[in-house]
Amino acid sequence: MKQFFYLNLVPQIDGYREVHTSDCRFFPTQHNRIPLGEYFSCREAVAAAKNKYLKSDGCYYCCRECHTR
Ligand SMILES: [Zn+2]
Repeated sequence: MKQFFYLNLVPQIDGYREVHTSDCRFFPTQHNRIPLGEYFSCREAVAAAKNKYLKSDGCYYCCRECHTR
């Protein structure tokens, strides 16, 4: 099943922006996020995010398998 992913525009301390699903408890506020689209996996969503911001990573809580930092 596809899920909708968003990118938090506010970088972490290390400069990386995190990808989230809409049900994440750390879902960014409306002004701090952009939609990435629907994907079957967070890997595709992170790849899409990297087209915009090379320093992108999956959220530890909602995209743990894509959390690499
Ligand atoms: Zn998250």
